[in-house]
Amino acid sequence: MTRILHRSSRSAPPVAVSAQGPWITQADGRRLLDACGGAAVSCLGHGHPRVVEAIRRQVGQLDYVHSGSFSNEAAEELAEVLVGHEPGGLTGAYFVSSGSEAMEAALKLARQFFLEHGQPQRQRFIARRQSYHGNTLGALAAGGNALRREPYAPLLADAFSHVSPAYAYRNRRDGESEADYTTRLAAELEAEFQRLGPDTVAAFIAEPVVGATLGCAPAPAGYFRAVREVCDRHGALLILDEVMCGMGRTGTLHAWEQEGIAPDIQTVAKGLGGGFQPIGGLLIAGRILDAIRDGSGSFKHGHTYGAHPIACAAALEVQRVIQEEALLVQVQSMGERLRQGLEARLGQHPHVGDIRGRGLFQAVELVADRDSKACFGPALQVNLRIRDAALKAGMLCYPGTGTADGLHGDHVLLAPPYIASPAEIDLIVESLATAVEAVT
Ligand code: PLP
Repeated sequence: MTRILHRSSRSAPPVAVSAQGPWITQADGRRLLDACGGAAVSCLGHGHPRVVEAIRRQVGQLDYVHSGSFSNEAAEELAEVLVGHEPGGLTGAYFVSSGSEAMEAALKLARQFFLEHGQPQRQRFIARRQSYHGNTLGALAAGGNALRREPYAPLLADAFSHVSPAYAYRNRRDGESEADYTTRLAAELEAEFQRLGPDTVAAFIAEPVVGATLGCAPAPAGYFRAVREVCDRHGALLILDEVMCGMGRTGTLHAWEQEGIAPDIQTVAKGLGGGFQPIGGLLIAGRILDAIRDGSGSFKHGHTYGAHPIACAAALEVQRVIQEEALLVQVQSMGERLRQGLEARLGQHPHVGDIRGRGLFQAVELVADRDSKACFGPALQVNLRIRDAALKAGMLCYPGTGTADGLHGDHVLLAPPYIASPAEIDLIVESLATAVEAVT
């Protein structure tokens, strides 16, 4: 009997004892192909020798210092690697231990930015329905995912409102062009600014490619340029949550690079440290850094394990490996192979409504009927059944979390490591197809 409060009290999960590359071994000796890196975390697979060595070195040299008293070399170097070349005008970094902490810090930083600017009334945030930005109560309030929000309502903050997600498969109207759909979504955001009072809004929050709640859903062309314009017109910040889709997962280091815009604040986590250590962070626009430095002089926020030296050393090595081994090129080519394999194997399946994503971040949306796009509905738990069937076939995939509101079909996410071989990609496709066929 386990003494741990597991997510499901009905069945404790199996115990994992070791992992190497894309393979995890359970206590009973069974090996599983990790096709989702947990939840799009293990971007280098498991046990990468360079990262293991970097952690060993760091723990022997400097294990921990409080970030209120000291900086450390690993954190400084990591910041240099991430923002030293000032991508999109992002010049500063701030390190925490998870994606939720990163979102909490982003919300507070946005508010403090406006406080420093003499605009204390800018306290509101607009986010999108069917979104997920973390599990702490502030981040949960930013998200619009019913499944996660309802058990913990009322949420602490009433500063959040939500507009429609960019979810073309279901929400683009018949005959509506991509450009018209984008214009409609931007108009809805504009209307929400007007309803709230534009000078009360601190920021608009969105994931460039929506992960767990919509299943690797990229926005239509021009969407991010349009919402950037709305934010700029009203002097509000754009916070992009790249916790899941960032750090190379979509084929560029940042998913926003494919959108022709840049955020004011970006949250990162999973692929930052690749799961070797818990780490998340903010990448911050120069004007926000300047406002804090020239204003009160300190970001009034912090955690005991902020900028942890071992976590930063691990993340630094992960990022060096991605750069030095040109893994973004690998993500693009293996992503293409994964996509083509899924299209070939499942593209005509009567219960596969959509296959979508970017790079090594691909999902399949399952429907009861392809023509009407009718959902199976939450009661059938088709996504969980596919996960279980895939497990039986020896592979881990990630069931999306967004089906509870019945507004979209079940989806299953794939996020293999950037080092996955062609044979492993083909095996992932085959195992998922087997699972889909077994369940549907
Ligand atoms: N933001 C997004 C887009 C996520 O997908 C997640 C986690 O899945 C989070 C934030 C929260 O990250 P964490 O679970 O590390 O707190």
